[in-house]
Amino acid sequence: MTKKVNIHWFRNDLRLDDNPSLTKATENSELIPIYIFDENATIDFNQGEASFTWLYESLKLLNKSLENRLLIFKGDPLKILKELKNNNNVSGVYWNRNYAPWEIKRDTVIKQEIKKSDTECETFNGNLLWEPWEILKKDGTPYKVFTPFYRKGCLGSSPPRSPLPKPPKINFKQDVVKNNEFDIEKTNANNWQKSILNHALIGEKKAFERLEFFIKNGLKNYKDGRNFPSQDNVSKLAPNLHFGEISPNQIWHIVYKLENTLNTDHFLSELGWREFSNHLLYYFPHIISENLQKKFNNFPWLNDENALIKWQKGMTGIPFVDAGMRELWQTGSMHNRLRMVVGSFLVKNLLIDWKYGAKWFWNCLFDADIANNTAGWQWIAGCGADAAPYFRVFNPVTQSEKFDKIGTYIKKYVPELINLDHKFLHCPWEAPKSVLSNAGIKLGETYPSPIVDLKMSRLKALEAFNTLKSS
Ligand SMILES: Cc1cc2nc3c(=O)[nH]c(=O)nc-3n(C[C@H](O)[C@H](O)[C@H](O)COP(=O)(O)OP(=O)(O)OC[C@H]3O[C@@H](n4cnc5c(N)ncnc54)[C@H](O)[C@@H]3O)c2cc1C
Repeated sequence: MTKKVNIHWFRNDLRLDDNPSLTKATENSELIPIYIFDENATIDFNQGEASFTWLYESLKLLNKSLENRLLIFKGDPLKILKELKNNNNVSGVYWNRNYAPWEIKRDTVIKQEIKKSDTECETFNGNLLWEPWEILKKDGTPYKVFTPFYRKGCLGSSPPRSPLPKPPKINFKQDVVKNNEFDIEKTNANNWQKSILNHALIGEKKAFERLEFFIKNGLKNYKDGRNFPSQDNVSKLAPNLHFGEISPNQIWHIVYKLENTLNTDHFLSELGWREFSNHLLYYFPHIISENLQKKFNNFPWLNDENALIKWQKGMTGIPFVDAGMRELWQTGSMHNRLRMVVGSFLVKNLLIDWKYGAKWFWNCLFDADIANNTAGWQWIAGCGADAAPYFRVFNPVTQSEKFDKIGTYIKKYVPELINLDHKFLHCPWEAPKSVLSNAGIKLGETYPSPIVDLKMSRLKALEAFNTLKSS
């Protein structure tokens, strides 16, 4: 008897374990596993350079665990799927859902088209703990505030489904009739991409090992330790989660079974923020390019290009900010505390529209994620849902004194200041000339003088934000 043939379309679910769509596609059927670089995807949100490199490496690893049977294409997904389906007598096409507005639009059309030809087409939840439509307020409207969303909505709802095992055996379809494949082995990473790859733990196996390492070493002091960028108290799983090399359900169920402490509770609530970002993206898709709070549309941004470049290069003269921006450039990642500090500095001290910051992060972060990046930036700018109030301007000096007291983090990324006494490491412009000279520092030459006065720029920001209140 000839076996049924199914397609599983890999997207942000680059794993074999706990993959509902893959499990379905492999049941009593032969499998054609595919990945498509969508040529029709919105240009503005085409993968950034850092996450592209991660993706390529991840696909290579996935291909290995699929006995080199992964077919990779580039082009129009509908056309590619239709051709594969028609040429290989396919009975079912399956995938796990994504939530970006252009993906929802594209997938809806594809699903309709495939079903027209009497082929089964089913989609699954492989990326979220709770689907956006499962968590709504009593009146049926979406949440806009995190705490009730998570504590009441998510935790008050059914628990996230348990992870599925890897399909016990995958029977691959032999001699698949296909058009041109896209050869990712031929894509060359540039030098910057190659260098950041040294900081990446890519693929399903590494993601799981990292989770185990974090549970053993970082989780026990997560609640406090997560604020200190020189401590290894965070999971660093964001890119693995973004590409679906590990599922939130796998993490949730492993951590949930541990002793319930303030640390485990806090860690699970951060997964809750990931859910919240996706919830916002689903219900307010325009947030990817517009302020959620419309009154911010009139904000008098300065958008000084010179200042933006200095921020991007980590040359603002504010050590904690520069350390964060250089961490991003050198490693393809940035600690959450720094994301908030450099974000606040860009938007509030430099008065540069958050969208410029989001764009830079999009290109440089391994974990660049349309839901989390958008929500993170709108939060920091004060224009999003449940956002930091506009008058909360992070002071990068006090942040640095509090969370990098002896300057371990600053010294790592701003080595020009390595010999400076930590009393002045957070604000070298306040150091007496003799102290600077003993440390081999000449402000404006070996390290920049601050590009803004923190106090003045804070007042200027508050004034500008006040105009919104009155408008
Ligand atoms: C301006 C700004 C931009 C951001 N851009 C992104 C982005 O593009 N991609 C991204 O994944 N995160 C983004 N974040 C959220 C957060 O900084 C990262 O998820 C976190 O630093 C990742 O490190 P980790 O994996 O060690 O997190 P952990 O502290 O170990 O947390 C575990 C997981 O929970 C999720 N998570 C944690 N914090 C948040 C949060 N604040 N919002 C949403 N999910 C969260 C992540 O998936 C993370 O991997 C951004 C935050 C800000 C302030």
